[in-house]
Amino acid sequence: MVVETERDGTTWYECEECGLMFDDTEDATQHESNCDAEDPSYIQ
Ligand SMILES: [Zn+2]
Repeated sequence: MVVETERDGTTWYECEECGLMFDDTEDATQHESNCDAEDPSYIQ
């Protein structure tokens, strides 16, 4: 899940799975859908 965080007047989007921060909600959402920090996949 992507968490919205505000810091220094800027909104950041944090991947709740691994803690990565993004300044773009689309980047965060795309990362989150591919993030395997908590639920490893072996598709590739
Ligand atoms: Zn992640």
